[in-house]
Amino acid sequence: MTSVGGNGQKRFDIEKTVDVVIVGGGPGGALAAREFARGGVKTLVVDRRQEIGAPKRCAEGISNDGLLESGVQPHPAWTSGRITGAVLYSPSGKIVTVDDETAVGWVVERKVFEKHLGKDAIEAGAQYMVKTHIDQVLMDGARAVGVTGDFMGKSVKINAKLVVGADGIDSLIGRKAGLRGSVQKMRDFHSAAQYEMAGVKCDMTRLHLYFGGDVAPLGYVWIFPKAAGLANVGVGILTSKSKHGHRAIDYLDRFIAKHPEMFEKASPLEVNASGIPVSAGIRRFWGDGLMLVGDAAQQVNPIHGGGISLAMRAGVIAGQVGSKAIKEGDVSAERLSEYGRVWDEVHGKELARLYKFRMFMEELTDKDMERMADLVTIDVIVDLTYARFRSFAKLMLTKMPTMVPLLAKYLMAPGKKFEMEALEA
Ligand SMILES: Cc1cc2nc3c(=O)[nH]c(=O)nc-3n(C[C@H](O)[C@H](O)[C@H](O)COP(=O)(O)OP(=O)(O)OC[C@H]3O[C@@H](n4cnc5c(N)ncnc54)[C@H](O)[C@@H]3O)c2cc1C
Repeated sequence: MTSVGGNGQKRFDIEKTVDVVIVGGGPGGALAAREFARGGVKTLVVDRRQEIGAPKRCAEGISNDGLLESGVQPHPAWTSGRITGAVLYSPSGKIVTVDDETAVGWVVERKVFEKHLGKDAIEAGAQYMVKTHIDQVLMDGARAVGVTGDFMGKSVKINAKLVVGADGIDSLIGRKAGLRGSVQKMRDFHSAAQYEMAGVKCDMTRLHLYFGGDVAPLGYVWIFPKAAGLANVGVGILTSKSKHGHRAIDYLDRFIAKHPEMFEKASPLEVNASGIPVSAGIRRFWGDGLMLVGDAAQQVNPIHGGGISLAMRAGVIAGQVGSKAIKEGDVSAERLSEYGRVWDEVHGKELARLYKFRMFMEELTDKDMERMADLVTIDVIVDLTYARFRSFAKLMLTKMPTMVPLLAKYLMAPGKKFEMEALEA
């Protein structure tokens, strides 16, 4: 409860002063906290959930490299399914198998995984406050100087030199602090629904991805195996393209009903639904005394919607830049723009290229996808995942020339001639 003192100022039940307050203890917030704490600044993470990691809103897939890049070692306590490849299914059921023993991935147990990340942050010196719902950013002019909220019925004020919004897709920190672009656009927003199911029958060593306008308009159905018979089975769709107002869960139920060979004896243990930003990131995700990290900054792969490793990486960069800035006594937007510059080099530019590829993909018909399923090789698919388009463009140019205008529209720099020599360069 908040009261008003004799001097007219609000009094809070709990008031704290720290160097940095991080709103959100997901993967982005946890890694930011670890790095801020390692950087020697007083760090507090607040999260509205009563338990870090639960409920999950995730299919829990992450590559081994995605963990290692942020300095997280895979641990048997949370690495559930070991994945060594993926199977892609065209609208008519054609199969493309991508196997790569060197690119191992995991389906993690996220409820344990996130706690593990939190534990690392706390061991590095950060403090956590759970069940703390933040509802306001304190501003001094254009500068963020703290947050207010509620902890189990008690009003909370946290003063901070730097506020980090790692508060996920429905982030309020960027909005309240006035960062333009932090409101989701429907055009770049996938609705997702998922069951964690037991009794599933499928190849448990690979991810399974199903495409097609009927299966998932401008999205895909996934089966991410966790352990024998246990899998996350979900769908993400571009809501604006769903047919007859069908919701993501309707597509998912229909898919499951159509595949008795996998789901006849299966049943859900958990249901999850949420949104996924597929915009490739907002333009400016920092301000005076402010940084946004992970889904809050829409730092997600716009092709497959994966955001765990990107949120962690963003958290690491934000923590390293932000802790130095605090120590230097300069948390101005200009100083914090280093975070934007490093992010752009490490991931931002690649995500921008993948966004263009998403636009290209969205214009394909089911028939185009069928033809491509006959043509693409593993090498081409691997190149595409790294936003390297040359091998794909070459393939299209030689085997599917009808695609050239689309390639030129989305994947070539304006004004460049689409010629073989250009691809060879
Ligand atoms: C169905 C689904 C499946 C997905 N599958 C995958 C996948 O397999 N692999 C992958 O890489 N990515 C996947 N993603 C995306 C991935 O989950 C996110 O990109 C990732 O969680 C982003 O991490 P984050 O730390 O930025 O945000 P989040 O993990 O969303 O964490 C945000 C935190 O902020 C807290 N918070 C929010 N608002 C407030 C507030 N006002 N006050 C206090 N606390 C607050 C929340 O409680 C939460 O703990 C999936 C997403 C969905 C919806």
